[in-house]
Amino acid sequence: MTTITLVQGDITRQSVDAIVNAANSSLLGGGGVDGAIHRRGGPAILAECRKLRASHYGKGLATGRAVATTAGELDARWVIHTVGPVWQGPGSDPSLLASCYRESLRVADKLSARTVAFPAISTGVFRWPMEDAARVAVETVGDMETAVEEVRFVLFDERAYEAFAEQVR
Ligand code: ADP
Repeated sequence: MTTITLVQGDITRQSVDAIVNAANSSLLGGGGVDGAIHRRGGPAILAECRKLRASHYGKGLATGRAVATTAGELDARWVIHTVGPVWQGPGSDPSLLASCYRESLRVADKLSARTVAFPAISTGVFRWPMEDAARVAVETVGDMETAVEEVRFVLFDERAYEAFAEQVR
């Protein structure tokens, strides 16, 4: 049984087995959550990302996929990097956004992670509307068969928190 919990705050301050990063396909860092994770996690994360680019992920990580690295100095064992889709306007297909949550939890299961923190993937630079992103996130996690015991959504501001709270009611 997976419990969904909601926290308003900074995902880099969480103590969990795995922290999910809203990465970009280059895996080489960016703004938002990605920048915060690399800043607080230190250079070990980027070093592993560079190794991934030099081996199995020569073209980068595809949208909707996920891959794990060390969590460096974060209070977690792993960072799971996933690439959300960019909002293309009404009619945007949510399946790749759902895939981010599914694939991240699949990676978490392979690592035997029991607690996983997610940001609101795609709702920053990638502009996915918060209410729709919250619906996709909560529905997808709720439908998953996983050994993860706690999925913690870490929402940066009150608006994001309220959108997710609306979905778990
Ligand atoms: P994307 O490129 O997938 O849109 P972003 O990192 O730009 O990813 O934003 C995703 C969401 O994460 C946004 O709602 C943003 O406000 C939020 N966010 C930014 N920094 C943090 C942080 N340190 N902890 C938790 N959430 C964050």
